Amino acid sequence: MENILEYTQDELRKDIIELGLPAFRAKQIYLWIHKKLTFDFLLMSDLPQEVRNKLKEKYVFDIPNQKKVLTSRDGTKKYLFEFADGCAVESVLIKDAVGRKTICVSTQAGCPLGCEFCATGVAGFSRNLTVSEILSQVYLICLKHPETSNLVFMGMGEPFLNYDNVIKSIRILISKEGGNFGQRKITVSTCGIPDGIKKFARELLQVRLAVSLNSADDEIRSKLMPVNVSFPLRKVAEAIRYYIDHTKRRVTLEHILLEGVNDSRADAEQLILFCKQFEMINVNLIPFNPTGGKFKASAQKTAKFFYNILTQNHIVATIRASKGGDIMAACGQLASSKK
Ligand code: SAH
Ligand code: SF4
Repeated sequence: MENILEYTQDELRKDIIELGLPAFRAKQIYLWIHKKLTFDFLLMSDLPQEVRNKLKEKYVFDIPNQKKVLTSRDGTKKYLFEFADGCAVESVLIKDAVGRKTICVSTQAGCPLGCEFCATGVAGFSRNLTVSEILSQVYLICLKHPETSNLVFMGMGEPFLNYDNVIKSIRILISKEGGNFGQRKITVSTCGIPDGIKKFARELLQVRLAVSLNSADDEIRSKLMPVNVSFPLRKVAEAIRYYIDHTKRRVTLEHILLEGVNDSRADAEQLILFCKQFEMINVNLIPFNPTGGKFKASAQKTAKFFYNILTQNHIVATIRASKGGDIMAACGQLASSKK
């Protein structure tokens, strides 16, 4: 049995013709799935009964089980989705000050990269998610919140370690016949896998790229993010340069402010030097969300001080508002649940 959510419309058309059905049926079926978010052939009322039966013999929907939804005081919702093999991931719906809704999507069950400040990294890795598992997080939340306009690939996992499935999901999500999301309303966040960044540049998408930097000092970054040992700042910078040259698109650097670790004047100055290598770069300062480890969030005053140093040096920076902290739905608080 094939999982029908893994198909692009073109792939489905080929299959449908092979099944001996007219090609236009593919368009109809695709509409039911990706627009009407209907995951049951028997409910596809404009298909003849024998077509529905034929589809049921060949395809399945592997829609995860929504195990839990928690709602935060600020309206953020955290969903726990469980897949057939017992692996589970969390996805988050965030509503911002102007009422815009964003889904934070997971790309892996857990994460193998073990960043010390991140609950997902500390909990370990189960496996990559399939295209269907990535799409169904978005679609199940959109069923209840159809006005959702933005997506961030910043949930559990490293998108570029599951490259092909992430890119195929994005292509389906931005296609007119699929999710129809605006490309510029999607952001992919990576911890800085150079080959992934370069490959992503060659996709020629208009999707935004964010790189989790957290420190512009190799020694500090390697302590925080073990991935820096294999891919140090020099390699990350070279990949960012390649990305900007190829796409002419801006890159966002993410920097979590950790008290006494990466929030001093010297840390800001090193970050400025890193940024000055590029013209099209901005910095997103992220308040640290406690994960139970040894780190503490920088005081608001320190965050403002750090921000001021950046802006005085003509680096475009923002301090991100943290959402959903009371239900552990904020960045880096998503823990993996293994079976
Ligand atoms: N693996 C990718 C995407 C998922 S992590 C990456 O590392 O970019 C998404 C974002 O959450 C990253 O910017 C990361 O730095 C941030 N993050 C992780 N743990 C955090 C924490 N405890 N508090 C605040 N942000 C955190
Ligand atoms: Fe993985 Fe990103 Fe968390 Fe690091 S910050 S452990 S790369 S999910």
